[in-house]
Amino acid sequence: MQGGEFSISTSRRMDLIDITPQISQALLATGAGDGLCFIYNPHTTAGLTINEGADPAVRDDILAVFKQIIPQDYPYKHLEGNSPAHIMSSLMGSSVTVIVENDLLRLGTWQKIYFCEFDGPRTRKVLWRIS
Ligand code: ZN
Repeated sequence: MQGGEFSISTSRRMDLIDITPQISQALLATGAGDGLCFIYNPHTTAGLTINEGADPAVRDDILAVFKQIIPQDYPYKHLEGNSPAHIMSSLMGSSVTVIVENDLLRLGTWQKIYFCEFDGPRTRKVLWRIS
C-alpha cells in the first residue's frame, strides 16, 4: 500500500481549496506508477469534489448556491450550530477517486481536486492511498 496524508489550513468559514498540487507532488514523490488514487476527507463538516479550476467564479457559484439552498436560520436540532456545514459535507461527499498513469493524475483538462471547507477556519487533514 502506498499513501500518506497532509494538512491544510483553511482561512475562511467556507472555501473550495485546490489540493491538486499536493496530491500530484505526493504521487511523484512516491513513484505511484499506475492505479487508482483514493483521496479521503476524515471530517464531518468538510468535503471533497472535482470541478473546474480555470474560472474561480465556478467555486464562488458553488458556495453561493450552497448558502442559498441550505439556510443558516432553519430550526436545526444539532446544538453545535454548524448543521449547515454537516449537510454540505454530506452533499459533497467524503472522497474522490482519480485514475493514475505514470505517477500522474488523469484529470480532465479543466478539472481540479477541491477540499471543501464548510466550517472553517481550521486545520484539516487529507488522506490518500494508491491501489
Ligand atoms: Zn456539529
